[in-house]
Amino acid sequence: MAIEVVRIGQRIVRDDRVTTHVALVARAFGASKIFMTEVNPEIKDTLEKINSTWGGKFQVEFIDKWKTIVKDKKNAGFKIIHLTMYGQNINDAQKRIAKDQDLLVVVGAEKVPREIYEMADYNVGIGNQPHSEISALAILLDRIQNGIQFEKEFLGGQRKIIPTEKGKNVLVNKTRD
Ligand code: SAM
Repeated sequence: MAIEVVRIGQRIVRDDRVTTHVALVARAFGASKIFMTEVNPEIKDTLEKINSTWGGKFQVEFIDKWKTIVKDKKNAGFKIIHLTMYGQNINDAQKRIAKDQDLLVVVGAEKVPREIYEMADYNVGIGNQPHSEISALAILLDRIQNGIQFEKEFLGGQRKIIPTEKGKNVLVNKTRD
């Protein structure tokens, strides 16, 4: 099962930090890739540094048109989940989302184009109050994977955290420094 994310639109500069956090959540919560439009290219560098330090192969791809990706992924058999506060409440939608299915999760920035509501297989609200694309993505990814994403190993990094009750315990791979 592949999970990928596409971020539609962004307010230049103002949204850089939010978009970076959407990408960080996608990576840490088990997605393999994020597609983005109109963003600061430094976001890709940031995620590459995170991969190099903490492992894994999370990918960032810049795209011109979100619609092309959504169409291509639909044709490749992915189901499209659009996160919107207007959608079916996650507590109901969760039962309908097919298990072991490749998924493309669409998150917006400001107002999203009307067409995405039609193109999506599922329009899902993480509750039906406005909050944030970062929190919405995190909760969706957790609900659809039931926490399994936190068992995943991020291989090949320079550092690996050994979870500990107090303090910090980090293994450093000297061959990767
Ligand atoms: N009024 C905008 C709209 O058209 O949906 C809200 C924009 S909000 C700042 C940015 C993004 O956060 C939305 O496009 C959506 O992906 C996500 N979001 C915010 N609240 C949400 C909720 N309750 N459930 C699901 N996604 C949400």
